[in-house]
Amino acid sequence: MTVTRFAPSPTGLIHVGNLRTALLNWLIARKAGGIFVLRIDDTDTDRSRQEYVDAIRADLEWLGLGWDRVEHQSARLDLYNETADRLRDMGRFYEAWETPSELQLKRKKQRNMGRPPVYDRAALDLSDGERNRLRAERGAGAWRFKLNHARIEWEDLILGHTSIDAASVSDPVLIRQDGRILYTLASVVDDLDMGVTHVVRGSDHVTNTAAQIQAMEALGGRPPGFAHHSLLTDAKGEPLAKRLKALSLRELRAQGVEPMAVLSLMARLGSSDPVKLCASHDELIEGFDIARFGVAPTKFDPADLEPLTMRIVHGLAVEEVADHLSAVPEELREQYWHAVRANVSRRSEAGDWWQALAETGPPDVAEEDREFVSEAFALLPAPPYDRATWPTWTAAVGNKTGRRGKSLFMPLRLAITGQTRGPEMADVMPLLQKKPGAR
Ligand code: GLU
Repeated sequence: MTVTRFAPSPTGLIHVGNLRTALLNWLIARKAGGIFVLRIDDTDTDRSRQEYVDAIRADLEWLGLGWDRVEHQSARLDLYNETADRLRDMGRFYEAWETPSELQLKRKKQRNMGRPPVYDRAALDLSDGERNRLRAERGAGAWRFKLNHARIEWEDLILGHTSIDAASVSDPVLIRQDGRILYTLASVVDDLDMGVTHVVRGSDHVTNTAAQIQAMEALGGRPPGFAHHSLLTDAKGEPLAKRLKALSLRELRAQGVEPMAVLSLMARLGSSDPVKLCASHDELIEGFDIARFGVAPTKFDPADLEPLTMRIVHGLAVEEVADHLSAVPEELREQYWHAVRANVSRRSEAGDWWQALAETGPPDVAEEDREFVSEAFALLPAPPYDRATWPTWTAAVGNKTGRRGKSLFMPLRLAITGQTRGPEMADVMPLLQKKPGAR
């Protein structure tokens, strides 16, 4: 059974980068008819917040990425501590007391000598007496996982064959000095315990993966398949990291971006397939293949969400925008929406043309066109109007005033709709409830 998981740390809002991870995992599970787990990585109790857990759930729900199971790492600490004991018993776990500044100094020295900044395992050489002294002076140490210095290899579903020399990686800290379990350990335990078969995550996790594979194997488990997607960059190729806050799903939603626009773009970005606007989740799943994703950095330009959102809005049925059309009389709603929808770029703006038609009149018109517009309005009968009203009326106005083309149509359009561009005027006229300009 295929099992994937999305494992955010609830320390902030999720953004398009996180969404990419969530979506690829979700697609793998759904394509295989498997299970998608939402795992909240909340062992960092200082930084984790319930409001972010709620926000993550709400954002995934907004996108329609449902999960089959939800787990909180903070509720599974016993399991992690038991596993830590097992690693201790195996001699794969050791206590180390270096402070962050001591470690920093070591790394600096190594760099100066042209060596990679890998932890030197000094703690392994401590005598029992030295250990006792450090424990007395500094309290409990951090616990590091002792890597086997061999090559760690896996067939990455995106990167292809990947081989990392364990000697080039620091023995990872799995339990911090304050006793807090780090997600690196928790994730190993959970991925094995939950039978996770595929892990898709950002390529910033490649080194973690190497260490986690060894930890899983030490525990007698079978590591899942890994896929590391490239990180997002902005349109110029710069890392997106700094701008991600503005690209939170919350923010995109507030801007009226359509969920299927976000999903359609993110399901294809970084793959060899062109972006295709999908109408449904089934269509997304159908066209998805993790093997189509590549290693090159992936450019993400939020502007690309605009045309996709607009295409979705232009195709919405009147029932789908009903919430925004309460001001439009029921019997006119369908006609209204069909007349204006190609000129609406956000679902929330569905009713704006109605507002404009009810409110505007001669005051919007330029000084030099005022007289022309009142002359024209004098030739317009009272409503109701139909599709023939506009051509008949403008022909009469043209004859009377001698105006033609743009100078004839534009001031009238502006006087009636308040805009220089918009829906077909033949479609607009039947929507008018009273004679324009007669307010
Ligand atoms: N909580 C980790 C993160 O957000 C999870 C990484 C993983 O997928 O294992 O980076």
